[in-house]
Amino acid sequence: MLSYRHAFHAGNHADVLKHFIEVQLLTYLAQKDKPFWYIDTHAGAGCYSLDRGYAVQNAEYESGIARLWDRDDLPEALAGYVNLVKGINPDGLMKLYPGSPLVAAELLRDGDKMRLFELHPSDTELLKDNFADYRSDVLVQTSDGFGALKALLPPPPRRALMLIDPPYEEKQDYQRVVTALNEGLKRFAGGVYAVWYPQLQRNDARELPEQLKKLPVKSWLHVALSVKGPGEDGFGMHGSGMFVLNPPWNLHGTLQQVMPYLVSVLGQDKLASYTLEYREN
Ligand code: SAM
Repeated sequence: MLSYRHAFHAGNHADVLKHFIEVQLLTYLAQKDKPFWYIDTHAGAGCYSLDRGYAVQNAEYESGIARLWDRDDLPEALAGYVNLVKGINPDGLMKLYPGSPLVAAELLRDGDKMRLFELHPSDTELLKDNFADYRSDVLVQTSDGFGALKALLPPPPRRALMLIDPPYEEKQDYQRVVTALNEGLKRFAGGVYAVWYPQLQRNDARELPEQLKKLPVKSWLHVALSVKGPGEDGFGMHGSGMFVLNPPWNLHGTLQQVMPYLVSVLGQDKLASYTLEYREN
């Protein structure tokens, strides 16, 4: 059941989109002089080697972070994310890639809290090791992130980012996401929720954003990056999307600047494109 290991995919185009947006969301929350929580329901291992182990097998990072590494024309917001990745590689070589928890660790301040959930026992061990010396308040648990989210909301400071990033290897994950958000919004309507999803030919992947648009929330933003056209065989991920509930007011404008650039640098064929939608209800 738990066959997914994120290390195979670390730093690919989907991680670039997800972690770039995570940086925007956390940077926004950190602007206010009030503490917040970062809750990661599917945390992974926290940090990945790019020069050995699983990541080398398919070298997916070559179609992601590697294409941005040496660029000198990065839009400012994207440069912030690339510099964060460079910051954990102090010798300048692209050896490590931060997972979502480590991206957050770089941006949280004293007084902010992290709650990290991961079901795979090996990845939880790695995650615990990666956070063994972390300065601030962090809790790492081997447990189901959907259940943990329900139990945690609302967080005491009433300010939080919830990242929901399941593997979608089980088709039930699509419905679990919708249920978790419905329940989450009942408990904590004002939280910022960010959901990652894969662009696949299968119906439940295609329908997920449409289902999320129906959630009872004040505002939402949907962004997707297709790095190529859907495969003729109907298989394989041709892109990914992020759906953000209660996004910061400036995220749409930032993405209007950055998404055309990401298409031009990460696009793999002439069908590469992006989607950007924002709605205030
Ligand atoms: N968020 C991570 C990042 O961006 O670096 C990547 C997460 S990866 C896409 C999904 C992770 O969810 C895998 O490590 C998998 O073991 C874990 N997982 C699967 N089902 C889970 C569940 N119900 N609760 C918590 N973790 C789960």
